[in-house]
Amino acid sequence: MTVITRFAPSPTGHLHVGNIRTALHNWLLAKQAGGRFMLRIDDTDAERSREEYVDGIRADLAWLGLVPDGEERQSARFAIYEAQFQRLVAAGRVYRCYETAQELDLKRKVLLGRGLPPIYDRAALKLTEDEHAAKAAAGEAPHWRFLLDHAEPIAWDDGIRGPQSFDARSMSDPVVRRADGSWLYMLPSAIDDVDMGVTDVLRGEDHVSNTAAQVQMFTALGAPPPRFAHEALLTGSEGKLSKRLGSLGVAQLRETGIEPEALIALLARLGTSDPVDPALDAEALAASFNLAHFGRAPARFDEAELHRVNAGVVHRLPFARVTHLLPAGMGEAAWDAIRPNLDHIGEAAEWWQVVTGPITPPALDAEDRAFLATAAETLAALEWGGEIWRGLTAALKDATARKGKALFLPLRLALTAREHGPDMAALLPLIGRDAALERLRSAS
Ligand code: GLU
Repeated sequence: MTVITRFAPSPTGHLHVGNIRTALHNWLLAKQAGGRFMLRIDDTDAERSREEYVDGIRADLAWLGLVPDGEERQSARFAIYEAQFQRLVAAGRVYRCYETAQELDLKRKVLLGRGLPPIYDRAALKLTEDEHAAKAAAGEAPHWRFLLDHAEPIAWDDGIRGPQSFDARSMSDPVVRRADGSWLYMLPSAIDDVDMGVTDVLRGEDHVSNTAAQVQMFTALGAPPPRFAHEALLTGSEGKLSKRLGSLGVAQLRETGIEPEALIALLARLGTSDPVDPALDAEALAASFNLAHFGRAPARFDEAELHRVNAGVVHRLPFARVTHLLPAGMGEAAWDAIRPNLDHIGEAAEWWQVVTGPITPPALDAEDRAFLATAAETLAALEWGGEIWRGLTAALKDATARKGKALFLPLRLALTAREHGPDMAALLPLIGRDAALERLRSAS
């Protein structure tokens, strides 16, 4: 059976790191099995859903390289929900209720006051047809609840949490449709999962109690439930309810120079004890992705760690991947020389400026200046070639008896105006003979 997973965001905001992680894990699960990863836009809530967020979700997934194999939208499927709903009405699996929010609140308080669980008492089930008719005549429209089967045990083997079981008697019949006819999340989601042939539902542990009810909805819809796995939620490094994490999305991460490969390398492993490896691409991550490695403790997302992973990724990015992001004229040799010194691709421009000049080296003392004059003469006499830095420093070592820092630092300062930086053996050929001679002479 082809594995089909889905990512089902509600387009009521931008994707944040937590959603991105869910999307990625569903993508990895599908890719690993040679299956399909679907995007489902959960836009039943017309008031809060926005087209700009739908576009944003698609753009973010594209940036991450998590391209869906298909897309569905709940707002295009209302007729299908209606038909299934009518079947469930006819089968007595959904029923009309009229309690207001205040009445329900009062019922809950009474039960809690008596030390009982605040479960809906199914009072509306006892209404006669005459009473329903009277309500309709008075202009009172019902909302609808799904009738849980108290005799049917609810159990599934969760891909992350292990065996789960719930007693329907300890649960309220969930409201599936509002009095104005609009849908709540649970029933349309189950209907879609059946229609889309979803085999694996992987989502946050905040959905565990929804799953308990949905397991019975699948059965009522005449379909076997998919496999379920619920992940521990992501927390910020500073603690559980992190506002920053709830809003941190692709746009901000991009702005700070984070590459999609880094976000993917980190989020694929966060919550497992598997090491984060910036060398692994998405395919390799899919091959080694294992739900059983995820723990039940909240996974901590640390932005500093993301930046470290990002540096590791940048150090490995091939020229073809970054060409369009580099300053004009900067070629492959320059990229290869400079990338080990970058945390972010954007910093390449600074180093390219060091290569192309002009640069302003700091003033050096007389001894160093004399050394640099010797260096200029030595360089002028050498045959320019690929090993020029080795040749120059070897000749200077012999000529001046300088070594280590005393040998290298004045040269680096004169040639780059920086104390640290990319390997001079790679930089010097990029700077070129004329510019190098000019820099040594002017610093001497
Ligand atoms: N739209 C739901 C959410 O964003 C989807 C949950 C699910 O994966 O079923 O929470």
